[in-house]
Amino acid sequence: MAQGVDATLSGWGQYEQETCSVFRPERRRELVETVQNGDQPNYIARGLGRSYGDSAVNANGGVLLQQRLNRFTGFDPAHGVLECEAGVSLEEIIEAFVRRGYFLPVTPGTKFVTLGGALAADVHGKNHHCDGTIGRFVQSLDLLTAQGEVLTCSPQQNADVFWATIGGMGLTGIILSVRLRLMPIETAYINVDYGKARNLDQALEMFSGDDERYRYSVAWIDCLATNGDLGRSVLMRGNHADVSDLRSESLSRPLVLRPRRKKSMPIHFPNFVLNPYTVQAFNTFYYKRAPQGRRVVDLDSYFYPLDGVTHWNRMYGKRGFVQYQALFGLDNARRGLVEVIEAVSQSRQSSFLAVLKRTGPQGDGMLSFPKEGYTLALDLPNTGQRLTDLLRRLDEIVLKYDGRLYLAKDAAMTADTFAAMYPRLAEFKEVKSRIDPQCRFSSSQARRVGIVDI
Ligand SMILES: Cc1cc2nc3c(=O)[nH]c(=O)nc-3n(C[C@H](O)[C@H](O)[C@H](O)COP(=O)(O)OP(=O)(O)OC[C@H]3O[C@@H](n4cnc5c(N)ncnc54)[C@H](O)[C@@H]3O)c2cc1C
Repeated sequence: MAQGVDATLSGWGQYEQETCSVFRPERRRELVETVQNGDQPNYIARGLGRSYGDSAVNANGGVLLQQRLNRFTGFDPAHGVLECEAGVSLEEIIEAFVRRGYFLPVTPGTKFVTLGGALAADVHGKNHHCDGTIGRFVQSLDLLTAQGEVLTCSPQQNADVFWATIGGMGLTGIILSVRLRLMPIETAYINVDYGKARNLDQALEMFSGDDERYRYSVAWIDCLATNGDLGRSVLMRGNHADVSDLRSESLSRPLVLRPRRKKSMPIHFPNFVLNPYTVQAFNTFYYKRAPQGRRVVDLDSYFYPLDGVTHWNRMYGKRGFVQYQALFGLDNARRGLVEVIEAVSQSRQSSFLAVLKRTGPQGDGMLSFPKEGYTLALDLPNTGQRLTDLLRRLDEIVLKYDGRLYLAKDAAMTADTFAAMYPRLAEFKEVKSRIDPQCRFSSSQARRVGIVDI
């Protein structure tokens, strides 16, 4: 059985620290024994800790690190299906499979997440409007349940447990292994069209006007601009490049990943560095200097710009930050987004990392986040009570327009707010109480938002 060590843990936003008993099983057997016989009141899996809030934190309980359970176990080249343990990271998959002509079918904005973490959040990428979430590409998964049983789940087998686990934030058990359909690619490059939108209306028009031409689409949005400039954005939309799109240097090695020089944020920034003036100056500079027109860029530059700076989360200082990701359905998107941006702009607490994406139809995960509409993600520095007040104000706006917040980003939502946003919560709880009647799997977030009582 793995031995636990007391440690303070937080999510990527470093917003709240909690004391947990942390276990790092080296083998599946140790993991099973710990879940079955361990003396903690409950446990939660933790991948690479890239969820922003307390999804992978368990105050006064056990946290089971998954990174050591990261073996590739098979690949079916006829169907492009990868079989591996769930502690494998997306970075490891990219490094092993891009050179064979495969990419991830869906990827979040960082490759430093585990496959288990990606499934537990049912992550979406810049291609959600075309391809949906990662859950659609999972052929089956093996789940370690609270009884120590290994349950194979798929859309055909134990389907209710499967769709509770996809997006279920680790609360149905531990995903041990996954069969995932990869996407064939010709090159390790993306053909990107950069374009500027003067304001939110123009950005929404550009998204809806020709989004079907682009598999990937995303916009950086200036959440401090007001009046006629409100919502001014830089859109970055693209498709996988064919060999014919490449120039000489990359043409000879179309599937070789570009080496990347990494920088690191060595210390936490002092709090005064990020203030409304520096952020506004950055936003104006970024908007004016943004590229325009078509460029061929490598996968890392397009999908993972923040991964180039290790520990970039220290930029927000020791008090940390939250990421607020809201989603509005198509009917309410414009009004909801305008009110959120106005509230953030008036509060003078916005950051420069704000992202707008178009989302496609809802998938089958009971607690999955995306539904058809637009989603806006903003980083908000921790300013204590001012931040709490702003978050409650934003929650009111999101509820008013029938929107929802994303568990993988959330650090502060209340149980009432969560219940109002997720209509399939009762169905999820029914599956959870059937396969985990003693609530062996729990997290700080699950207790806060009322998915579990203990
Ligand atoms: C820079 C950045 C950009 C991001 N961009 C996006 C984006 O574009 N789209 C998006 O959807 N998300 C995005 N995310 C969020 C991120 O993809 C999710 O939070 C993901 O769950 C993190 O995976 P992880 O391995 O770090 O898991 P952790 O953060 O450690 O855990 C997240 C959840 O997964 C559960 N979990 C982990 N491993 C397992 C397992 N083996 N079995 C069962 N449950 C498990 C945990 O219990 C927890 O509930 C982004 C995060 C960052 C930091």
